[in-house]
Amino acid sequence: MLKPSDEKLPPSWEEERDRIIGLGERSFKKSYYPELRDNLSRLERFRTLLDFSGEMILLVELPAGRVIDANAAAFEMLGISQATLLGMEITALGIRDAAPLLTTLNADSSATTPTLHHLETQIHGQDGGRTPLDLSYRVAVVDGTPFGILLGRDAGARIASEAQLRLAARVISRSGEGIMIADAGGLIIEVNTAFEKITGYTREEALGRNPNFLASGRQDAEFYRLMWHTLNESNFWQGEIWNRRKNGEVFPEWLSLSAIRDDADKITHYVGTFSDVTEARAREARIQHMAHHDFLTGLPNRFLLMDRFSQVAASAQRNDTRFALLFMDLDRFKNVNDTLGHTVGDQLLCDVARRLSQAVRTTDTISRQGGDEFIVLLGEIESPEAAAQVARKLTQVLSEPCQLGGHQITVTPSIGIAVSPEDGSDLDSLLKHADLAMYDAKQQGRNNYQFFRREMNARSLEMLLMESDLRLALRKGEFELHYQPQVAIGSRQPVGVEALLRWRHPERGLVSPVDFIPMAEETGLIVPIGQWVLETACQQAAKWRAGDWPEMKVAVNLSAAQFRQQELIVLTRQALAAAALPPQALELEVTESILMSDAEGTSTTLNELSAMGITLAIDDFGTGYSSLAYLKRFPVDTLKVDRSIVRNIGTDEEDAAICSAIIGLAHSLHLEVVAEGVETQAQYDWLAAAGCHYVQGYFTGRPEPAAACLSSFQAAEAP
Ligand code: C2E
Ligand code: MG
Ligand code: MG
Repeated sequence: MLKPSDEKLPPSWEEERDRIIGLGERSFKKSYYPELRDNLSRLERFRTLLDFSGEMILLVELPAGRVIDANAAAFEMLGISQATLLGMEITALGIRDAAPLLTTLNADSSATTPTLHHLETQIHGQDGGRTPLDLSYRVAVVDGTPFGILLGRDAGARIASEAQLRLAARVISRSGEGIMIADAGGLIIEVNTAFEKITGYTREEALGRNPNFLASGRQDAEFYRLMWHTLNESNFWQGEIWNRRKNGEVFPEWLSLSAIRDDADKITHYVGTFSDVTEARAREARIQHMAHHDFLTGLPNRFLLMDRFSQVAASAQRNDTRFALLFMDLDRFKNVNDTLGHTVGDQLLCDVARRLSQAVRTTDTISRQGGDEFIVLLGEIESPEAAAQVARKLTQVLSEPCQLGGHQITVTPSIGIAVSPEDGSDLDSLLKHADLAMYDAKQQGRNNYQFFRREMNARSLEMLLMESDLRLALRKGEFELHYQPQVAIGSRQPVGVEALLRWRHPERGLVSPVDFIPMAEETGLIVPIGQWVLETACQQAAKWRAGDWPEMKVAVNLSAAQFRQQELIVLTRQALAAAALPPQALELEVTESILMSDAEGTSTTLNELSAMGITLAIDDFGTGYSSLAYLKRFPVDTLKVDRSIVRNIGTDEEDAAICSAIIGLAHSLHLEVVAEGVETQAQYDWLAAAGCHYVQGYFTGRPEPAAACLSSFQAAEAP
């Protein structure tokens, strides 16, 4: 059948076949055997097909398991050249599990219908690399002879994508966010564990349902319509929605919805992820509360007050009604802090806050402005009298003493009232006016309330300016001390001086302490100012004593606020030490009112000062309570008869009687006695006759700066 196509001696057709197959030659055009050429050409077409396949194809001879044919993918995947591969046993190709595979093939070779087997295995390459392999194999019988056919595919991609799927599944199931997946019809097909945890529904209960079974009813149909519309239009929607847990509890969740589309842009799934934001909402609410409330008392702070104020003011304007602002300051609250400590002070403030809150209507606002200042906003009042009524009520609820840390404390308020629209309509001016009125209440002896009056404005403005001026003055060193001699009545010799504070104001000139000390006391500035006085006076006295005046003493005035501060002893000791002044050269002047105020603490402090060697004088004696009992209780050394009594000794019998009584008292208690404000020879003589020890007044020397004071003393001594 096979005939050479021309005369030239042809090779045998076997030779021709082997030549073509062996060399892998693809051209048959020159073949001598047309039939062979046709057959080979058909074979070649299959060959091309096989080689084109990305899958490895091996044809194996049975039972030996030798490779008798393989496609290009096989050479490549196995990493073995064609020449080597053909004839190799499959157990030698590096395919794991090739031996049992061959056994199976051989077992199958006699079966009537061979089975297709699948195996997930690996190729162990020559270079040590491993390629995952999906292998299918079966027996094929050709002309009664069984062969093994192996089809292998690189499983890398499959394994990777499976791993990815597994990962995705794990991420979904472990996610802290609730996740639900719904089909195109909106029915749930999958939920994760967090979904179950947040909603309280199990997966089984949720599957197949429309997610609206979670709806709380807090959002209306229009809300959902918009949500679906946005989702279908832009494939995404997110927002906060309120849902209902299985246990009925309604909770806020932050929900993101995505529509998933296929290649044809048709929606196939919806994915919803959500987190329970109950905690976050609560935290936000707490922060909100903190931002608007006073940390200590929980009362509204200034921000919230401003907010409420604008509401009240707007409604008052609309309805043409009145409202009022009360400015309240606790009297002597600083005392509580200083003597009992801040913890008790804080507790007291909380207690006050609680009482005040209970005393007003819910429509009123009580706010703490820091410290011991409270502002009460009364929304809508009939008349100013209504505000006064509230002020009285607040005073009354505070009058009950409170028990704190073993102490019984009573606080009293000073309240200023400003009424809108009369006293202003904006918060700032009402606050300012109520503050001025409060200041007036303090001046009136505390524990009372005052309405704002127009004339308060000017005076109080001056006060305000004064306060900031005082602060500046201390920093700029505008204070100075003048010294007034105290003279021994018999010898007419000065024995010491009293240090008197002056303020050299850049515009107002020399300002008297009478004009600024009350303000300095009110603001607490007296403490640093007083400290400056003490230090300066000690230094000056030390200078004099080191110079021409070795025995002199200096008297320094102490205000109540200084006396209350706990560090008084320490600061005094420091001032003495810094100046190297012996304590015996220092006299401290205190007023009767200080002695009367807080007997326990006072006697401790006075005893300590006295024990140091410092002498104590009672200033302005005869004007105050003049309860003589304390003269025995406290370590007093000197009485200073007030100048209002001395002034009248020549003209007013009663004052003369008081003056001699004081001198007599001093003698019998073995105290020194100084007469203040002696201006005339007659007064001097009267006092000398009455047995007074010392005088201090214009008659013997005015208060003067240190240098002038010394020269006048030297002049007096000269003759
Ligand atoms: P004080 O302690 O009773 O001081 C005596 C006041 O009488 C001084 O007024 C003094 O200038 C004045 N004076 C003295 N001799 C005469 C006189 O013959 N006739 C008249 N009319 N007055 C006389 P000054 O300096 O204005 O002080 C007034 C008050 O200010 C003092 O009264 C004292 O309570 C207070 N003060 C002064 N310096 C200080 C200070 O450094 N600290 C404190 N806390 N208070 C001070
Ligand atoms: Mg004095
Ligand atoms: Mg005095």
